[in-house]
Amino acid sequence: MSAYESARHYFETAASVMDLSPNMKKLLLTPEREVKVQVAMKMDNGEIATFVGYRIQHNSARGPMKGGLRYHSEVNGEEVLALASLMTWKTAVVDIPYGGAKGGITVSPKALSENELETMTRKFIDELQDVIGPNKDIPAPDMGTNAQVMAWIMNQYEKYHGFNPACVTGKPLELHGADGREEATGRGVGLLTEAMLQKLGRSLTGATIAIQGFGNVGSFAAEYLHKHGAKIVAISDVSGAKFDSNGIDVPAALAYARANGSLEGFESEKQLSNEELLALDVDVLIPAALGGVLTKENAGHVRAKFVVEAANGPVDPDADTILQKQGIVVLPDILANAGGVTVSYFEWVQNQQYFRWDLERTRAELAKTLLTSFEKMWAVATEKRIPLRTAAYLMGIGRVGRATVLAGI
Ligand code: NAD
Repeated sequence: MSAYESARHYFETAASVMDLSPNMKKLLLTPEREVKVQVAMKMDNGEIATFVGYRIQHNSARGPMKGGLRYHSEVNGEEVLALASLMTWKTAVVDIPYGGAKGGITVSPKALSENELETMTRKFIDELQDVIGPNKDIPAPDMGTNAQVMAWIMNQYEKYHGFNPACVTGKPLELHGADGREEATGRGVGLLTEAMLQKLGRSLTGATIAIQGFGNVGSFAAEYLHKHGAKIVAISDVSGAKFDSNGIDVPAALAYARANGSLEGFESEKQLSNEELLALDVDVLIPAALGGVLTKENAGHVRAKFVVEAANGPVDPDADTILQKQGIVVLPDILANAGGVTVSYFEWVQNQQYFRWDLERTRAELAKTLLTSFEKMWAVATEKRIPLRTAAYLMGIGRVGRATVLAGI
């Protein structure tokens, strides 16, 4: 099932519980603007290359649109649209004054030199600069992009529009970034995993956890969970998975991955494939890499008691049904990984006010925002006897729908 079909299915499930009118459904499903551009550039060897770039602005009923930019070989228009709609519901679930958007370029960033990456990013912004901006649509990092890419975006945007740090978030600290933004998504995954275990009479102490993906989200989630007493028995990246029954030495793995750019060669008790990691007998499974990793083919193999969707769309609807039947609780992506967009919002607020918060304040505000939304989602799920995902969609769609009606169509 494609990312778009999955996102549509989850929307339809919630819409039927809410009894959403066909007109409102039509409005909420239709993206406001879809931009597809050709990024043409000269490579280091003098050859001309072209890349396809996207920015899809799904909904602005609650404020300027917000969403990451992904550089990955599998980026396509349908996937970007699905991810843009997830951003609309996500910003509404955590109740920050934004709509949803997403973008990306179909490219393998690791195949480009630093110089080529910079040129491609600047050319992409040349194409997008008139449709993005601090009060229109604010990009941020996602897979394959980082603070350096955000710095180039800000600099290129400012060539057209003057000093404008709030035009993009996830920037380096030295260039109007926010302390705590880099760790925010992974930290949020950790905070919410802890909250969910507590609700069910469990605790992080001694809980066994497997994490797929050791990039921005997976590595900071591992760090938080390890520091708070969980036993991370498996981690992975594109090179494969590492397993240790006594718990991975997370600080050593973090240092290794930072020094080597990957976990390849990191010593552990056992090497596993990414597929084997998904089927480990652990308390919590955290997919934190690609979407669509749990499907009807492999969901039946999952032995974890809880799945925390740190990645966007890692569990497709067929898999979701199988997990539900097995009594496995799924914490949905539109809340589980909302820490990143929440601290992006804090960064934007600071940029607009020319003021800087310290790390403690950011962490405290992040925890408040995520845990308030978690409590509300839990209450809706309990009251209506529906899965957490449907409860989160109900909150998100409800808020966007009400804003749409109040503003007038
Ligand atoms: P990243 O590029 O920093 O890291 C991705 C990780 O996934 C790397 O460790 C990579 O090796 C691994 N990976 C790639 N292909 C894989 C494969 N086929 N099998 C196993 N592992 C593979 O990306 P990220 O920013 O950590 O994003 C990860 C996920 O979290 C994405 O789904 C993204 O949309 C989502 N997300 C990210 C943020 C954020 O703030 N960065 C916010 C919300 C959601």
